[in-house]
Amino acid sequence: MDQAIDLAQFRQWILAYADLIQEQEAYLTELDAAIGDADHGANMRRGLDRVRERLSDPSLAMEDVGALLRMVAMTLISTVGGAAGPLYGAFFLRAAQAVDTDRPIDTHQLAAMFRSGLAGVQQRGKAQLNDKTMVDAMQPAVEALEAAAEAGATVEAALDAAAHAAKKGMEHTIGLQAHRGRASYLGPRSVDHQDPGATSVYLLFQAAASLGDPLSEQDADSDQPPAHDDAVIVHGPNRREHPGR
Ligand code: ADP
Ligand code: MG
Repeated sequence: MDQAIDLAQFRQWILAYADLIQEQEAYLTELDAAIGDADHGANMRRGLDRVRERLSDPSLAMEDVGALLRMVAMTLISTVGGAAGPLYGAFFLRAAQAVDTDRPIDTHQLAAMFRSGLAGVQQRGKAQLNDKTMVDAMQPAVEALEAAAEAGATVEAALDAAAHAAKKGMEHTIGLQAHRGRASYLGPRSVDHQDPGATSVYLLFQAAASLGDPLSEQDADSDQPPAHDDAVIVHGPNRREHPGR
């Protein structure tokens, strides 16, 4: 990956996210069964499957990253449902609105876009850090992107740092009591469970790691190892490699 991320790479990222959601559907549902209503996996799967369909429709060719993210937002709003649908919708819509198409999407611009997306989520859902929601993975990821931009890091290194931060944030939700969303109805009984929405946010940043994977590029050298430890794909609910376990 270069110093900037282009439309084709963004598209690849979203497709990788759709694949990860598909793989982890049962796991997300299992997490939501413990502190919610067992639909987060199905909700996200339905939404990202529809996004994948639209991305493969040549009549819906997207002209820039803003248009791509708007399509993702509208599709998630209309298909995911639950609390997460409108919140992910707000995230991608606000990120789309922050895109400056006259500039390359470098680490600075990416950080600004996702800061704006996070603000959209918080405006809509009113969750603060440590309320045990998707914000607990999203905010550390955005802060990592901002720190990476300040440090002059490449997009690839910045996204790697964001995935690390999102993972830590996701794991931190295990010890928290929920103060927003359905899980908050459980009060103290929501403690000791990982938040499903924070987990699907981690998967979004984990999917970005595939952008640095040489195997995913056309002239791939198949002898190259994966670029990042964090890019290791996690598997279904009966395996050991769950994110955060
Ligand atoms: P629902 O709770 O309506 O069944 P989902 O199961 O799809 O919707 O999504 C649940 C996730 O949504 C939670 O794990 C949490 O991360 C996130 N969430 C719920 N309410 C909020 C909120 N107010 N702000 C941020 N995230 C929230
Ligand atoms: Mg649910």
